[in-house]
This record gives sequence, structure tokens and C-alpha cells, in this order.
Amino acid sequence: MRQPIIAGNWKMNGSRASIKQLLDGIKAGIGEVKAAEVAVCAPSIYIADVAEQLAGTPVAWGGQNLSTEEKGAFTGEIAASMLLDFGCKYVIVGHSERRTLYGEDDQLVAQKFAVARKAGLTPILCVGETLEEREKGITEDVVARQLNAVIDLEGIEALVDGVIAYEPVWAIGTGKTATPEQAQETHASIRKMMADKDAAVAEKVRIQYGGSMNAANAAELLAMADIDGGLIGGASLKADDFLTICKAAG
Ligand code: PEP
Repeated sequence: MRQPIIAGNWKMNGSRASIKQLLDGIKAGIGEVKAAEVAVCAPSIYIADVAEQLAGTPVAWGGQNLSTEEKGAFTGEIAASMLLDFGCKYVIVGHSERRTLYGEDDQLVAQKFAVARKAGLTPILCVGETLEEREKGITEDVVARQLNAVIDLEGIEALVDGVIAYEPVWAIGTGKTATPEQAQETHASIRKMMADKDAAVAEKVRIQYGGSMNAANAAELLAMADIDGGLIGGASLKADDFLTICKAAG
């Protein structure tokens, strides 16, 4: 049985005050979340605050990006060791915003996955197609290419140390959610892709759905056989909505 995982991706949102309020709300309701693992991925500068506020709670925390370098003259970058220093468990790699706005390609994302994993972080590997790619009917090819970059670099077994987040780019921050059937179809194809290489790995790896998942649509998405959780953007900024999603996961 795969334990569902709900992770909030706060992106570049929040202030010390709003984050305190958000975390107070999450902490107040987290006891009602029975089965899901819960995490929040904060802007780097707030990770120390988040670590302090979440220490001793069931909620884990993580970063939204990391450098492939260990240390040195890389202005503005954050190393895996720094995330670990502040108790991060997770780090998002290959979010579509990093891929499209900051030019991160499959190879760089695979390296980030590898560096995170080797350091002992759990990478949340984002994959997903654009609207144009979906309309061309190449969703599976795109997702396979993104996934294979990691498999080629690290081997299929490496995926067990991470989480995959299937995030159709057209659904992120747009209010357009993939239907449960659309999402399940791609999740099943990702699982099959892995199973063709290693059935045991495919059975173990958790695949989150991300893309306008919210308090109203989470339950039906999370009910699908191959959807093992959610990566939540906008709805993770409101404690009540985020908790509703976490509860919908069990
Ligand atoms: C995301 O940023 O990963 C995401 C899924 O955003 P949203 O939920 O706002 O679409």
C-alpha cells in the first residue's frame, strides 16, 4: 500500500506573518488527517521559520528548488546540505515554472534529482505536458522523456527514493483541472512505464497529481487508483482548504 502524500508548494508567496498564521491553522487541524503524509515546500528564506514552527508536528517541510553544486561561488543558489541543515525532508525538482521560466531542461532536472537523493532528501520530481503537447497527442511521450532522463542517469531503482508529481502544465494555476479520468490515464501510463522496467519499483513509487487541485475536487481525483496524493499550489495557501485536501487523501 502506498501512503498518500499531500505537499503544498507555496511558490513565491507569503510573509513571516502570513506563514505563521497558515501554519497555526494547519497545526490546529492536522490531527484530523489520518492516513496522508503532509508536507509544505516553502520559499527558501522562510524555511528556518517553518522548521521552527513545524518541529515536533507530523507535518514535514521542504524546499522548492536546489543547486546541483555542493558549495562555492554560485550566487543565489541553495545547496542540498543547506536544506538538510534546516530539517527539510523534501525538495521539488523540475517544476514546470522552473522548466519554462528558468530554462531547466530534462538533464538538469535529472541532475537535481540525483543530487537531492544522494544527499538524503526526497525529491518530488515534476513531469507534465503543455496544452499544445496534449493537443498533439504526445502527453505520454513527453512524460516518458522527462522520466527517462532521471532513469538514464540514476537507474530505475532511484525512483523509489523520490515522489513523482504529474502536473499537466495547462492545469497549473489556471483553475483548469484534469478530470479524474484524464489524470488517472496519465498516472497509469507513468506506472506502466516504470513497470516495464521494474514491477516492484512501479508498485512502490507514489505519483501525486498537481494542477488546480482544491478542496472541492480533491476527493474525486484522490479516489483514482494510481493517484497517490497531490502537489498543491494555490489551495495550499489557505489552511482550511489545504486540510480539506489532506483529509480527502485519508
Ligand atoms: C503547483 O504549483 O505545483 C500547482 C499544482 O499549482 P496550483 O495548485 O495552483 O495549480
